[in-house]
Amino acid sequence: GYCTKARSLGLFPAIKPVGPRYRWARMESTNRQQWRKDKGKMVVIMGVTGSGKSRLSIDLATRFPAEVINSDKMQVYKGLDITTNKMPMHERLGVPHHLLGVVDSSYGEFSPSDYRLFGASVISSICARRRLPLVVGGSNSFIYALLSDRFNPDSDGLNSVSADLRYNCCFLWVDVSLTVLYEYLSQRVDDMLAAGMVEELAEFYDPEAESDPKRDQVGIRKAIGVPEFDRYFRKFPPGGHFRSTDIERDGARRELFEEAVKAIKDNTNQLAKRQLKKIMRLRSAGWDLRRLDATEAFRAVLASDTGKSSEIWEEELLGPSVKIVNRFLEE
Ligand code: ATP
Repeated sequence: GYCTKARSLGLFPAIKPVGPRYRWARMESTNRQQWRKDKGKMVVIMGVTGSGKSRLSIDLATRFPAEVINSDKMQVYKGLDITTNKMPMHERLGVPHHLLGVVDSSYGEFSPSDYRLFGASVISSICARRRLPLVVGGSNSFIYALLSDRFNPDSDGLNSVSADLRYNCCFLWVDVSLTVLYEYLSQRVDDMLAAGMVEELAEFYDPEAESDPKRDQVGIRKAIGVPEFDRYFRKFPPGGHFRSTDIERDGARRELFEEAVKAIKDNTNQLAKRQLKKIMRLRSAGWDLRRLDATEAFRAVLASDTGKSSEIWEEELLGPSVKIVNRFLEE
């Protein structure tokens, strides 16, 4: 049941129910009216991997009383913080984040149905605190599972989507031209490597998975980086003695390493492309996504002009988003 699952996920402290009747009785009548009006209102930030959703979420959460609910299906798990690109604590600026790094890999697969169940519970606890839920992440199957009015766990992916939602949502879609994004993503992978991605994956490496290929297909083991580096670690196990005098082996090692890095970059680009298709599918099904174009901001980043990039970001992303959210909250 829900309680056993929640306990095994360590979710209890975060989503402990807070007596709604008691709060209701204590509320001023004008507040009650506002409460009724805002009930079920939330903001959803969509966009492909690397598009800047997290940045926008912190920008908004520091201007509105919001709490973030992660909707990246790899970031719900504990571990592999660099590989899955979890936002480090110091960048969250004190904004509470939910369903981020909470699921233990022993839990198995955290399914869209699980996400729907726990997400709903987190949303009601955020609403009970009279704060704004901010759903942020690139896994569109999770977003769909959470928001759709009638979710069928047996339906295959996003093949038949409906526009009937169980919450009152304001959708912000951070869009970046794919060609510009690919260049940025390649740099991001290099940055992740420099930040210790290989060391993180080495610690995570499970030689047993070799004899059981299915192990690779569960939960966080699906994260881009894990299967790609498996081949490398199989040949050059972490901690194994490496003789740098062995030139031939060194060459083979470097080749296999570069192959893994290239596979990670290719697969990240493929992921972005697939995610974009899913966003378009939701949009054509009638989801009212407000598109914000981050392409120029990314071009400036690639040209190492961070000052200009911040300026464009404020003008084209942040300013319009704040306006949209304000209008939505006033409705
Ligand atoms: P799908 O139905 O294809 O899983 P989805 O919308 O549910 O799509 P996506 O976020 O597009 O979820 O993730 C698809 C796959 O991309 C994941 O199973 C994983 O392999 C990889 N992936 C997604 N997010 C990350 C991440 N943060 N880090 C590493 N790999 C990721």
